[in-house]
Amino acid sequence: MTPFAQTAAQTDHYDVIVIGAGPSGSVAASLLHQQGKRVLVLEKQHFPRFSIGESLLPCCMQVIAEANMLDAVNQAGYQFKNGAAFNANGRSTYFDFTDKFTPGPGTTFQVERGDFDKLLADTAASQGVEIRYGQRVDAVDLSQQPRLTVSDEQGESYELSADYLLDASGFGRVLPRLLDLERPSNLPSRTAIFTHIQDNIDSVDMGDYHFDRNKILISVHPDNRDIWYWLIPFSNGRCSLGVVGEPHLLGEDADLEATLMRLVREEPRLKQLLSRAEIIRKPAKLAGYSANVSTLASNKFALLGNAGEFLDPVFSSGVTIAMQSASIAAKCVVKQLNGESVDWQTEYAQPLMRGVDTFRTYVQAWYDGRFQDVIFYQNPNPKIKQMICSILAGYAWDESNPFVAESERRLNMVVELCR
Ligand SMILES: Cc1cc2nc3c(=O)[nH]c(=O)nc-3n(C[C@H](O)[C@H](O)[C@H](O)COP(=O)(O)OP(=O)(O)OC[C@H]3O[C@@H](n4cnc5c(N)ncnc54)[C@H](O)[C@@H]3O)c2cc1C
Repeated sequence: MTPFAQTAAQTDHYDVIVIGAGPSGSVAASLLHQQGKRVLVLEKQHFPRFSIGESLLPCCMQVIAEANMLDAVNQAGYQFKNGAAFNANGRSTYFDFTDKFTPGPGTTFQVERGDFDKLLADTAASQGVEIRYGQRVDAVDLSQQPRLTVSDEQGESYELSADYLLDASGFGRVLPRLLDLERPSNLPSRTAIFTHIQDNIDSVDMGDYHFDRNKILISVHPDNRDIWYWLIPFSNGRCSLGVVGEPHLLGEDADLEATLMRLVREEPRLKQLLSRAEIIRKPAKLAGYSANVSTLASNKFALLGNAGEFLDPVFSSGVTIAMQSASIAAKCVVKQLNGESVDWQTEYAQPLMRGVDTFRTYVQAWYDGRFQDVIFYQNPNPKIKQMICSILAGYAWDESNPFVAESERRLNMVVELCR
């Protein structure tokens, strides 16, 4: 081998290659770099780029801290968030995340993801992680050591290898597609239509009703509880606004904006709250986003965040699951690269799925109405409310919470009390 070839071979091989620089990718890369691993992140877009998923849960602040990114996030000026408010047929209720069962952070932020994802990626880069933008992973060969075929923006292809691959490609779902791991979700196909607005809520007289910018507002359609809306305030007088439902329930109008605004007008409180709002971003639609896979990991790759399973947006669990997956996977990768054997099923997939399955119970119960009855119950037992609050704050992995350990049974018991 010539000296040049030696250098090229070394440069093209990494301990870990991460596909995608969203929250799961940047956090995983940071955690691995801090353990002395040589990591490369390949991101097909340039940042900032738009992404949906703007309301974080307090639980993810633990992983942000683990990745030494807390100062950067705290100083970025994002909208403070301390809970979730719910509204249906004029009934209002809220959960204060600081009053929860599980110890840990009780507050977080609502973020424009273009900005937030860039902040995480830039912070990882400032820690020493190598990130290449405008590089799309097109093919993978796992027959021996993992090899990737990547195209740059000039359309040129090149190859890279790594001891381990982390797929953090989100809805790009690179490895599920290339390795035929895609499996249908057990949740029905739903559609989300969303936009950003200049909300002008301060200039609307809402009578006794107080709109709390520190909370996401989830509203339920008055005639069809399968349809719900999110309103996520940002710190700049803007909000993210979206509506979710099965496509036949949402209906179709001349364009997406007309559908979104018709549905907003059908919910009286939102109609009033947004009476002075102006749309500042062309409405977009995401359909059939729930996804699943046959396997989450092997001794050559692991799927992080949305590249694995994505459930549903209703409890804003996506970024939290993405970050938890990064944290659990990074520990397993370090262990394997340090020469110990890792059982990826019991050490990665099962621990991750414990929390995902907790969220699944509550997502399913939201849509069949059971969890909505619990949320809107007027005289909740304070201790039970704290336990449910923990789950809404993202602590879906805390087995000491009975509503995590035995989610279905406990939920059904409370449903009986509320009905
Ligand atoms: C309607 C809706 C509303 C949501 N609301 C919320 C919410 O309020 N709160 C919340 O926490 N979550 C929410 N989510 C979920 C959230 O958007 C995701 O869970 C989260 O973004 C997942 O992060 P990630 O790191 O897995 O992937 P992403 O953030 O999607 O990042 C993946 C990255 O991979 C890159 N990539 C893709 N393909 C390739 C390739 N071939 N090569 C190189 N790079 C590639 C992409 O460009 C992208 O930058 C919502 C989801 C939906 C559908």
